[in-house]
Amino acid sequence: MTPPLESDLSHVLLTEECIRRRVDALAREISEVYRDEDEIIVISIINGAIPFTADLIRRIDLPIRLDCLRVSTYRDDTRPHRNPELIDTLRLPIKGHHVLLVDDILDTGRTFARVVNLLKKMGPASLRVCVLLDKIGRREIPFHADFVGFKIPDEFVVGYGLDFAERYRNLRCIGVLRPELQNPPEWQ
Ligand code: 5GP
Ligand code: MG
Repeated sequence: MTPPLESDLSHVLLTEECIRRRVDALAREISEVYRDEDEIIVISIINGAIPFTADLIRRIDLPIRLDCLRVSTYRDDTRPHRNPELIDTLRLPIKGHHVLLVDDILDTGRTFARVVNLLKKMGPASLRVCVLLDKIGRREIPFHADFVGFKIPDEFVVGYGLDFAERYRNLRCIGVLRPELQNPPEWQ
């Protein structure tokens, strides 16, 4: 039987197992890059990066401290806002610390351009970026992530943290939402 949430997908892009394996590999890569550091600060862009961050940090073999940033780029539709809005600030001082910024998906590059710019001004010892998904064909601002889980085509995806109107974040796989379910009123 198809699970109820999964039946809203036109197709599955990445299965739970495929995501698990890739997150394992990313965590090994990250642990290797930072292996000489005493500690790193992971900054997760929530809500989208919550499941990915939770899985990733438990596989990183180093002491970490965790903080979160809230950035709003989408409201109840599939069209990005022009200017990502920062809704919250950091609790941890990052000056002089090694920072790993984690997000679910890199799309136009606007969110990262904004957040990275802001974090750099705070004087971290280093700043690297990790994304689970990269829609390379959609970039409006040139941006390169240091760690990338999967490169994906330009389709609106949900699941494993990625939402449509705050729904589907708890889907274990990542898939493309059926077109009739991504129907923002202003597109009609
Ligand atoms: P960017 O600022 O790079 O255009 O967008 C990054 C943010 O847009 C992501 O953190 C995510 O919230 C949202 N986003 C971009 N593409 C998708 C997508 O295919 N599905 C969902 N659910 N969110 C997306
Ligand atoms: Mg996001």
